[in-house]
Amino acid sequence: MFRHHDGLGRPVESRAVAERVGVLGGTFDPVHVGHIVVAADSRHALALDRVLFVVAGDPWQKRGQVIASPADRVALVRAAVEPVDGLEVSTVEIDRGGPSVTADTLEALARPDRELFLLLGADAAANMPTWRRLEETRELCTLVIVTRAGEPAPAPGPDWDVRHVTIPRLDISSRDLRDRLRTGRPIDGLVPPAVVHEIRRRRLYTPTDRDGDR
Ligand code: ATP
Ligand code: MG
Repeated sequence: MFRHHDGLGRPVESRAVAERVGVLGGTFDPVHVGHIVVAADSRHALALDRVLFVVAGDPWQKRGQVIASPADRVALVRAAVEPVDGLEVSTVEIDRGGPSVTADTLEALARPDRELFLLLGADAAANMPTWRRLEETRELCTLVIVTRAGEPAPAPGPDWDVRHVTIPRLDISSRDLRDRLRTGRPIDGLVPPAVVHEIRRRRLYTPTDRDGDR
């Protein structure tokens, strides 16, 4: 309960309205417009106050694949979300260090007056059975499965509190973007202009920078 004042300045008790926070975890190596659409459409569909892009520090299921540093990936996400209302970057996983485990992240973001919505693309949702601390994850959030039009939505167990959001099919992946950059093809339109600029400025994903994708 929060204390408020009525129109006459008298204190009144009213039920606290929980802040609704979306959590979009990812490697974001690099962030692209598919990620922005997932976040913005989910925010709209579920009336979320804001959506946090939680940048993975050490995505244990992608060992050996991540090629930009956490600081670079955070800078790219920051550039991507800055112009969009209600979208923010969170470094909670990077700051904590160690493997990125969703339940740990949700615990770190939990507050008494905050409701957490875990946003997952269909591919990420299909991968859930392999997650660590799955039971705890279920207790901590409402699951939001974001499917691309025409794609089947994976069904988590019956115990999960689930919402579904459908977005346009955007066949864009970070892996394809890394391939494009390595081979000198354009990425314009697939990532926000500010991200194109940051990638160039930081000389990321080019063969001269690293040996390229493994
Ligand atoms: P990679 O190609 O390296 O696997 P990615 O493009 O899939 O990268 P991730 O950082 O792995 O990006 O994804 C973060 C989240 O965004 C996941 O929940 C994933 O399902 C979702 N996602 C990624 N790309 C899209 C897309 N084009 N449309 C909808 N959701 C997406
Ligand atoms: Mg992926």
